[in-house]
Amino acid sequence: MIKKIFLLITVVFFLSATVFYSKNNSSPKNIILLIGDGMGLGQVSTSVLFSKNDQFKKFYTIGLVNTCSADNLITDSAAGATAYATGYLTNNAAVGQDPQGNNLQTILEIAENKKMSTGLVVTSSITNATPACFYSHVNHRNKEFDIAEQFVHSGVDFVIGGGSDFFIPLAFGGKREDHKNFLDTLSFYGYKVFQDFSEMYESSIIKKVAAILGHNGIAKASDRNYSLGDMTKKAISHLNKNKNGFFLMIEGSQIDWAAHNNDQEYLLQEMNDFNSAIEAALEFARKDGNTLIVITADHETGGMSITSGNIKENKINLGWLTKKHTANLVGIFSYGIGAESFNGIQDNFIIGRKLINYIEPKKSWK
Ligand SMILES: [Zn+2]
Repeated sequence: MIKKIFLLITVVFFLSATVFYSKNNSSPKNIILLIGDGMGLGQVSTSVLFSKNDQFKKFYTIGLVNTCSADNLITDSAAGATAYATGYLTNNAAVGQDPQGNNLQTILEIAENKKMSTGLVVTSSITNATPACFYSHVNHRNKEFDIAEQFVHSGVDFVIGGGSDFFIPLAFGGKREDHKNFLDTLSFYGYKVFQDFSEMYESSIIKKVAAILGHNGIAKASDRNYSLGDMTKKAISHLNKNKNGFFLMIEGSQIDWAAHNNDQEYLLQEMNDFNSAIEAALEFARKDGNTLIVITADHETGGMSITSGNIKENKINLGWLTKKHTANLVGIFSYGIGAESFNGIQDNFIIGRKLINYIEPKKSWK
């Protein structure tokens, strides 16, 4: 009897040790990174205190991020996104390159090498700084015509964003002066190209999707009848067919634009739109059970605070210190397999390294 009990204890001990070991070493199959551009703790506070569809309260693994760039206390979106996309700090305005102009491999490129599916869903132009840092390499974010050309060759499986101006020539209503039509090239490369969200349909025959829904950014959340959450659902259902998993980056791009304008209504609507994307991602991750969700920001914009209001009457007044970015720490909220790595106060590029190491555990850092 004593022998049996001893055996049982030994088996239980080994089983629990195995579970503990595998938990610490397990990587998620899918990674969904949601970036609220310019979304500081003030912006998150508007959601937690006033939004009917707040999603941030659903997270229990929460940390803070230092957003400084290599050459500046106050980052721009290019250096901020490069830190998350590559795991390295760079100078403001650099896209997927280090301060010396060397290309840095991105998490999206690494995911492609691992035969994972990849996607980008943004409300800015797809050539704007944040998404560009995941698939392109240029020394200045303003080179959006070059970034569009690099997108065509990037191999990204699914994209929704604006930016037709950078893909099509003047004669066809775009802004390219080199007469190249990269929407045609995308079709040639096997993409199904959409220019209207309502026309997007799903088909198992379609391998790659490029939905370019505006000349530059896509319409503000208040001016369209589909949400960032609707776009997120389309992306996930397309990308989730791959047994190797997927990497998806979703950006609430216009949170930043609203904050640059110090425009309260615009900001609250863009935060609601971003909440719809978090909701869609969470719904998928809960069912899937093998997905990591990380929500953060590249920097804060506006020095925004809630200065007065009334929760019962749903009245809110925001105060602004600047029309530019600030160096305030931003929040990071994570859920799912590997979420615990994002606790505490960390530098932005460390977040990038941790995300990349979930896809390529052996990658070393110099
Ligand atoms: Zn900005």
